[in-house]
Amino acid sequence: MMPKPPISTDPETGLKIFNTRAEKANDKITGKGYAVVTDEALTALPEAKAGAVFNAEEQAKYLEMKASRTGVADYIEMDGEFSKYLEDVHSQPPIPREALDDECEILIIGAGFAGLLLWYKLSKAGYKNVRFCEKGGDVGGTWYWNRYPGIACDVESYCYLPLLEEMGYIPSMKFSSGFEIMEHCQNIAKKTGFYDKCLFHTTVEETQWDEATGRWQVSTDRGDKMKAKYLVVANGILTTPKLAKINGMETFKGDAFHTSRWDYNVDITNKRVGIIGTGATAVQIIPEIAKTVKELFVFQRTPSSVDVRDQRATTAEEIETWKTEDDWAKKRRARFAKISSGRTALSANDDYLSGKIDTAAPKKKHKTKLSPEEHMQKMLDTNFRIMEQIRERVDAIVEDPKTAAALKPYYAYGCKRPTFHDEYLPTFNKPNVHLVDTAPRGVERITEKGIVHDGVEYPVDVLIYATGFQWMATATFDMIKGRDGRSLKETWNEDGTKTWLGMQTKGFPNMFVITGPQGGGGSFNFTDSIEDHGNYVQWMLDTMAEKNADVVDIKEESQQEYAEHCAQVDIATQPLRDCISYYDHEGTAKPGQLVYYGGGQWHKYRIKGQESLEPYVFDGKA
Ligand SMILES: Cc1cc2nc3c(=O)[nH]c(=O)nc-3n(C[C@H](O)[C@H](O)[C@H](O)COP(=O)(O)OP(=O)(O)OC[C@H]3O[C@@H](n4cnc5c(N)ncnc54)[C@H](O)[C@@H]3O)c2cc1C
Repeated sequence: MMPKPPISTDPETGLKIFNTRAEKANDKITGKGYAVVTDEALTALPEAKAGAVFNAEEQAKYLEMKASRTGVADYIEMDGEFSKYLEDVHSQPPIPREALDDECEILIIGAGFAGLLLWYKLSKAGYKNVRFCEKGGDVGGTWYWNRYPGIACDVESYCYLPLLEEMGYIPSMKFSSGFEIMEHCQNIAKKTGFYDKCLFHTTVEETQWDEATGRWQVSTDRGDKMKAKYLVVANGILTTPKLAKINGMETFKGDAFHTSRWDYNVDITNKRVGIIGTGATAVQIIPEIAKTVKELFVFQRTPSSVDVRDQRATTAEEIETWKTEDDWAKKRRARFAKISSGRTALSANDDYLSGKIDTAAPKKKHKTKLSPEEHMQKMLDTNFRIMEQIRERVDAIVEDPKTAAALKPYYAYGCKRPTFHDEYLPTFNKPNVHLVDTAPRGVERITEKGIVHDGVEYPVDVLIYATGFQWMATATFDMIKGRDGRSLKETWNEDGTKTWLGMQTKGFPNMFVITGPQGGGGSFNFTDSIEDHGNYVQWMLDTMAEKNADVVDIKEESQQEYAEHCAQVDIATQPLRDCISYYDHEGTAKPGQLVYYGGGQWHKYRIKGQESLEPYVFDGKA
């Protein structure tokens, strides 16, 4: 086959096509995250303590942990000398191309699951005049940037990976490795012609609504000044890495990187390695790198809740059955969504998910109706019993009592992002792995040689920052400027976060945010929300075409009503998040201010809005 020329023109849209997909930076990948543990002691939870309640003594312990951590989290901007931690180490340098000043109908920021699913839906519906801008050198989003040893999804892959039937693909493991997910994304892109639609290594730096032309003006770091009728922000919820602020960081002389930019050019074999952070990412990395490094020092401020994972290979029988069933993955995902309140979904039984039995667990009937307070207490008690099991699992596995005590989380389940692993806890029994408990303030300082805590210096060759991501607060919201010239972030800061379904905001016409603040939709599986949001965008574009409308905005009263609903749900469930976590902005989000909307009424509001068209202002007319 003839190699594709670098530039051509799309005959249908007249848009220039660039071959900007970058080559991989290197092939040195280790620890693909496929660990299957057969020891039942590690893959089963201790029995739940029947009748245990979240009494005053236990509540005091939770509050003590919260109080000791209040106000200690401090993060720095990754600019200046720290901008090196944001560089794209996964791809070869950007492919040169000319700057663009043309116009497309729909401009979409981001080529992760959301970008790929949007393209699949929109192209099937006949929308061809679409362009994507992606900061990275290839598709995948989360799974492009995160390539650390041990990476895997935490929602079972059969429900999490998009477009499985359409691609004729069945994931090889119950929890796919990030590398398998990335490959799946690349296959979707190849099959759907996505690569012709996307400008890779192109970061959108500013988008400004122009009232006179009714277009978004989009500027990028590649000198583009493009126009678009519609703007879709599919930039993800966990995209911008965070660095904890630690004195002396700039003095460290060894190799250092953030987990989302894992540098495989740095060989960690037989090295002394320090990892700062014990959140969801670190829980996957630590067991994997402990197998190769000489010494591993784990600096922990707050322990994670580590639940059973029970990773396994997809069976031959499953593959045979599923590939012959229409819509098997869609049906499974829908069943999963029904029981998707946190942990239930993760312990969900395969017979239920595959449709062999009707219910996941027998429904309990309460003889008397519970008051809201009784209902909340019941939820807190259940939550407490889950946490007791998680704490007991630590005691059952970790041999050193001091290490075990430090690894036990004292907060409500779900406060810190729940994690799942069968090798994490046993890793702390290895002689080369050392937990350094830095609670509550975190490590003291970094020196040329390593990390200092409590006056002890731990010299390391390699320092890994597993300090996570900004949550639903990406830099993108700073650079989208609406009708009055204010950015989306300024608007939300000054007027309070107000949106319609988390997707549209008054004063930002023809713009849609995918899985942004208030858009959660109540599912633990983000692919659900991404699907729902994609369907909504398509519905709105179809509606605009039917009405022959050019501009759509949102009414103040509709976004006010929806924002109040989100606040009420947050207030009602506040006791379940009485802790310090990135979800609630390190404990600073007051009841009613949480931007993540986990309530299940999203569809009710959506359907009401779509049937009445009440929330919308088309072409300036209500
Ligand atoms: C390590 C990890 C594990 C996870 N595991 C799960 C899981 O098991 N289950 C689950 O439901 N969710 C999980 N998540 C959440 C995950 O982010 C979502 O499930 C999903 O992948 C998000 O897809 P997305 O396309 O919305 O965003 P992303 O995958 O984040 O993609 C957004 C893209 O936008 C690009 N971008 C951002 N700003 C700009 C800009 N200004 N210009 C150009 N491009 C830009 C980014 O480079 C990125 O590629 C995980 C997240 C992480 C970090």
